[in-house]
Amino acid sequence: MKNKAKIDSDEKIIAELTGEKVLEIVKILKKKKNISEFRLAELIKKDVNETRNLLYQLYHLNLVSFTRKKDKEKGWYIYYWTFMPRNLSFIKKKVKQKKIEKLREQIKSEKNNYWFCCDDKCVRLDIEQATTYDYRCPECGKIMQQEDNSERIKKLEAELKELQKSKK
Ligand SMILES: [Zn+2]
Repeated sequence: MKNKAKIDSDEKIIAELTGEKVLEIVKILKKKKNISEFRLAELIKKDVNETRNLLYQLYHLNLVSFTRKKDKEKGWYIYYWTFMPRNLSFIKKKVKQKKIEKLREQIKSEKNNYWFCCDDKCVRLDIEQATTYDYRCPECGKIMQQEDNSERIKKLEAELKELQKSKK
């Protein structure tokens, strides 16, 4: 995607789950139903296999459906794809829940560990790792000090609160 500003919040969630490559297809399918994969491949300028691969990623998220029709001349099936945005709200809830869990884990880990780093803050190690390195920074060799992580915890807690408050 060249123009990131054009990605809306729905597309952002989809990109988080599958990668930005699918967004071109999403944008096209949002405007038109029942598009054949050959047409889609043409529109996104990729070969049909790659296009199918992207469609399957969306299919696994339950965001697209297909119908198939037999091509009378060639005898094979052609798949026509349609976007199903109604599953997005469920997906969003799941993503939000995951983020909340991750933040809680991070906060817990910050509170339950002692953290060490050198003056240059090359790397951050918990006490177990720091002991392994004899309290010397593995990057620059300087002595590592215990870090005051109260600001970091405050920031994470604010982030968590914000996330829990948001209705999206
Ligand atoms: Zn260092």
